[in-house]
Amino acid sequence: MPASGAGRHGGTIAAMLSEFDLIKQYFQRARPGRAALGIGDDCALLAPTPGMQLAVSSDMLVEDRHFFAGADARMLGHKCLAVNLSDLAAMGARPLGFTLALALPAAERDWLAAFSAGLFALADAHECELVGGDTTKGPFNICITIFGEIAPGHALRRGAARAGDDIWISGSLGDARLALECYWDKYPLDVAALEQAGTRMHLPTPRVELGQALAAGPIAHAAIDISDGLVGDLGHILAASRVGATLDVDALPAGPVLAAQPQEWRRRFCAAGGDDYELCFTAPPQRRAAVEQAARASATPVTRVGRIDAEPGLRLVDGNGAALTMALAGFDHFA
Ligand code: ADP
Ligand code: MG
Repeated sequence: MPASGAGRHGGTIAAMLSEFDLIKQYFQRARPGRAALGIGDDCALLAPTPGMQLAVSSDMLVEDRHFFAGADARMLGHKCLAVNLSDLAAMGARPLGFTLALALPAAERDWLAAFSAGLFALADAHECELVGGDTTKGPFNICITIFGEIAPGHALRRGAARAGDDIWISGSLGDARLALECYWDKYPLDVAALEQAGTRMHLPTPRVELGQALAAGPIAHAAIDISDGLVGDLGHILAASRVGATLDVDALPAGPVLAAQPQEWRRRFCAAGGDDYELCFTAPPQRRAAVEQAARASATPVTRVGRIDAEPGLRLVDGNGAALTMALAGFDHFA
């Protein structure tokens, strides 16, 4: 859309690269996609499988808030889609397509080439098609809206946990937070460890196949993706389901870098890290074998870390079952 009061803004992005050239060169692909109509008209047209529900989610990445100025463009392309795929995963939905709204301070060819390469590598891995978007000059901001589909009644909703359910975590936790603490100069890591932990922060793996397997069974009751730290995100399941939980903090699967750090930090960054993009889900104990089968089928490790209780509140315990008191809170942009 045109900039207010300034006529069309195509051409003001960069003398060499008009808005439309930019879209055509870096975001419109020659090969036919799955959408009924992709990039190029006023709207895209999606054709979900008849009888399925659409699952829709948006996630925005803002410079200095979610990524640093000068962040690697290819990794940014991966991450902005990964965090959206992670929301579909947490619902158990199958990805269909996404739109990309991009505000850029300048149209730099190298940046655009690397960004779109990272974006499309992940999009293609999940057969999730870029079907449209918006492009403007402005403060650096990337917003994706993603569309998936799921059979009615199968979505893994936050309010569906029941007393007696096991609590499970996919993959591992805490390495992304460890990297962030190191960037902040609050935690020392050597160069190799920071590189490894930083990869977890910059290139999260959305657990899309696991989410779909857990929903299709149906195997899991409730799920959420862990973006703001486990304790805070599990808290959303507990509140929505009107239940409580007991969480074995020493059972939490620490990422490989965090696993080599002292216990206090392992506990803290596993329980309240952030940027993990793992799934936290609940399932009845009689479905343990089915959970493990879904994990194998999706090549995603899972760990049982606690239990849903009828009694409200979250009780943290150590490996021996003794109560732990830790001051932990989920990440809140306005707190
Ligand atoms: P309109 O002015 O009708 O909003 P635009 O000129 O903004 O249309 O966009 C032209 C076409 O390019 C549309 O189909 C739009 O969805 C698509 N588009 C714009 N920006 C992007 C982007 N960053 N990625 C993918 N498609 C885009
Ligand atoms: Mg537009």
